[in-house]
Amino acid sequence: MSSPGTEKPVIEAVSQTFDSLMREDRVFPPPPEFAAKAYIGSAEAYERMYAESIADPNAFWAKAAGELEWFEPWTSVLEGSGADATWFAGGKLNLSHNCVDRHARGARKDKVALLWEGELCGEDGRPKEIRKLTYGQLHEEVQRFANVLKAQGVKKGDRVAIYMGLGPELAIALLSCARIGAIHSVIFGGFAAHAISDRVNDSDCQIILTQDISYRRGGEVKLKQIVDEAMAKCPNVRRVIVYQRAPHAASGISMTPGRDVWWHQEMAKVSGFCPAEPMDSEDPLYILYTSGTTGKPKGLVHTTGGYSVQTYLTSKYIFDLKEEDVYWCTADIGWVTGHSYVVYGPLQNGATVLMYEGAPNYPANDRFWQIVDDHKVSIFYTAPTAIRAFIKWGDDWVKKHDLSSLRLLGTVGEPINPEAWMWYHREIGKERCPIVDTWWQTETGSILIAPIPGAVSTKPGSATKPFFGVAPQIVTKEGEPVPAGQGGLLVISKPWPSIARTIWGDHERYVQTYFSEVKGHDGKGIYFTGDGARRDADGCFWLMGRVDDVINVSGHRLGTMEIESALVAHGKVAEAAVVGRPDELKGQAIAAFVTLEEGNEPTEELRQELRKWVAKEIGALARPDDLRFTQMLPKTRSGKIMRRLLRELATTGEVKGDTTTLEDFGVLAKLRENDE
Ligand code: ATP
Ligand code: MG
Repeated sequence: MSSPGTEKPVIEAVSQTFDSLMREDRVFPPPPEFAAKAYIGSAEAYERMYAESIADPNAFWAKAAGELEWFEPWTSVLEGSGADATWFAGGKLNLSHNCVDRHARGARKDKVALLWEGELCGEDGRPKEIRKLTYGQLHEEVQRFANVLKAQGVKKGDRVAIYMGLGPELAIALLSCARIGAIHSVIFGGFAAHAISDRVNDSDCQIILTQDISYRRGGEVKLKQIVDEAMAKCPNVRRVIVYQRAPHAASGISMTPGRDVWWHQEMAKVSGFCPAEPMDSEDPLYILYTSGTTGKPKGLVHTTGGYSVQTYLTSKYIFDLKEEDVYWCTADIGWVTGHSYVVYGPLQNGATVLMYEGAPNYPANDRFWQIVDDHKVSIFYTAPTAIRAFIKWGDDWVKKHDLSSLRLLGTVGEPINPEAWMWYHREIGKERCPIVDTWWQTETGSILIAPIPGAVSTKPGSATKPFFGVAPQIVTKEGEPVPAGQGGLLVISKPWPSIARTIWGDHERYVQTYFSEVKGHDGKGIYFTGDGARRDADGCFWLMGRVDDVINVSGHRLGTMEIESALVAHGKVAEAAVVGRPDELKGQAIAAFVTLEEGNEPTEELRQELRKWVAKEIGALARPDDLRFTQMLPKTRSGKIMRRLLRELATTGEVKGDTTTLEDFGVLAKLRENDE
């Protein structure tokens, strides 16, 4: 018998197409009042622009790049292909300049760039801390902190690790590194010490930016203490710069003389003038590790020019960003979504970006809706895991607030179950806001598949159509196109500007992982996403789950998404994860893990009802063989279900795979207990 799933070679899993059982035919055209004001307001306009962008990508991307400021023009748009593509060669620019200086110098000087709300609340349950930084003020802060980095000896090309909570200083840290050409490596401010030391050593960071504490769900997270613990294993770190977040000296925080300095004290020593360093288009901008959903995280390297252009353009068109919008992406800056769609994309567009430090359920389950109401948020971008939590908590929390400022909703991170999409549409969007389901990856740098909201009709559970210049295809392992309606491997056949150029220190692994699994007719590798998908007759893409997670039942190969969505469509189910476990008769049996909406009991009767429900909804083939109720599912820190751990558990009763990005270790222990 083969060993449990985690280290399963992708090759085996991808050699065939897979079956689709789901029937979802609801369609929502763009609301006419939205389309009337949108940048791209009709299906024809989208189709025309898309066709042009594919026919002549160089002309398309050159025009987009022309909307940014360059210190020196590029000499060619795209050179090379596959793992060797370069974009805007010869061009010089600076992303911090395009995010900040460009606006601070002009009409947006006094416009709010960052609108931050801290988690702390007063006796009355109202937020205690709100900060607003205009583009002018952000310009000043970024220049000053860039000078602090310089004074500490940080030079172009040096790596700087950042381990902070979600606040303006985190954005300032990123923008300051970019300004002087230092390569930042953000480590999510919830990881344990060993995750920090692994990442710091992998990319040889000699400087760490952190803060004393951050606030989470009413408690303190002692970030500095965790950094101290990590430093025991990081001999090359020579400086730790500590931002003081707590209003008073936080308890248990100590400074190591000769190594640690306070952010505010260093800021007071330097000038507020620091011109942006002209960076080559292909100079590295940052390193970022993937979420670790399918294995050990990979440290991807993004470069400057192509990344700037594509995060700028996708933010503009997919979020239809306008001057008066208040834009809120709830992602942490520790993930790529935070890099591209909290900081770099929206700021290049001169937007007002809302940041909230804390948890969605502190002090109560309606904190997000309170924030939308208080700050008149118009664009709201979150993850399916959050949406499923809101559903679980019940609609009353939402109904307490006025959400009429919202005009566009977004989702990212996992396939969204159609019934969760419908809830989002109904309860949050009040059937008035288009929903952009955005498919992309840490590797892709920016969104590749998503509806242009004024132009493309949406369908619950589908990320719909490719962004301009992007050419997704559904193919077999041999690179043969798979017919519409049938599931296969999602590949991207043309280069796009914001693709990560390598894995830090391991280009061979980069080529192996992304450009070797699937080959085109010319024998060259095509970018393989690791995801399974199908395309429907209208040309819309439906993500079906990770190729690693495909379940093989009696010769039928099923994606996880459709079975999970059938379970979630049942009124009592909040969340579901399905995995395959070995079965002598069927090859694999389906094991489902289910969490219930509040107020429901996990009875044997309900277990049988749910198994029957799946059979009725999408077919007997998909009926789960085992169905376990659980309080929680194992997830990554970015909120994705870690099926590989469940698969191991369902197969061997043990977990040996990489768990460094697991959100809550208690979940595995609980699941094991239930086993007994
Ligand atoms: P690792 O690569 O370490 O396994 P990861 O793939 O979860 O982790 P990310 O780069 O954060 O790391 O996530 C990208 C993946 O998230 C995609 O490959 C896809 O599986 C999933 N994903 C993101 N957005 C969507 C979406 N809108 N619909 C479906 N799946 C999505
Ligand atoms: Mg991945």
